[in-house]
Amino acid sequence: MRGRLVAGNWKSNGDLAANQQLLTYLGAESVGLAGVECTVCVPFPYLSQAQQALKGTRVSWGAQDVSQFGAGAYTGAVNAAMLANFGCRYGIVGHSERRAVFEENDALVAAKFSLLLEAGLTPILCVGETLQEREANVTEKVVGRQLDAVTGKAGIDALAKAVIAYEPVWAIGTGRNATPEQAQEIHAFIRRRIADKNEKVAAGVQILYGGSVKGSNAAQLFAQPDVDGGLIGGASLIGAEFMAICRAAERRL
Ligand code: PEP
Repeated sequence: MRGRLVAGNWKSNGDLAANQQLLTYLGAESVGLAGVECTVCVPFPYLSQAQQALKGTRVSWGAQDVSQFGAGAYTGAVNAAMLANFGCRYGIVGHSERRAVFEENDALVAAKFSLLLEAGLTPILCVGETLQEREANVTEKVVGRQLDAVTGKAGIDALAKAVIAYEPVWAIGTGRNATPEQAQEIHAFIRRRIADKNEKVAAGVQILYGGSVKGSNAAQLFAQPDVDGGLIGGASLIGAEFMAICRAAERRL
């Protein structure tokens, strides 16, 4: 049975004092969580702080992006080996904010995905449609294209070492989450598309839902058979709310 994963995406938020409080709280409160892994993807400058605060706890940490290059003359870039240096377990790639605001295309996302894998991190690959695309009935086409760009470059087996996050863009930061049925429909589509190429990989890959998940709606979303946890933005900045989501994802055998 697939384990559950709840990943926090702090985006460009935080400061040293507030982070310390939140990280200490998460480390303490996560003791005893069963069948769910929690992780926080923090801004680059806070990776060391997350590492210090969380090592030895049940909460892992990761990054929200990575350079498409290795080491070298790339001013301002943070490469995958650096993330490994700071003990990152996960790296998010293809978040809709990166795709929209920073104009990242499918090829760039695929390159970043491969570099994270090479450095030994687990990529969390975000896919999802805009409201306009949903209304034009091209959700599967868009999500399929985003997925194929990565498997086309890295190979289908690469997904055995990755996590997928389905994040409808219209649900991110809007307070309007997908219904559990809407989420399940696309998660099942993603799994079927992978199964067409490799059934074993499809059965094992964790597919997270992201988009306005809160303590109050998490359990219903996580009850869907193909929803294996969540990628959490705003609510991951509030300790009690994030822990409520982690508890909703618990799977006691
Ligand atoms: C996100 O940033 O990935 C996200 C899902 O944000 P929010 O939970 O705030 O909608």
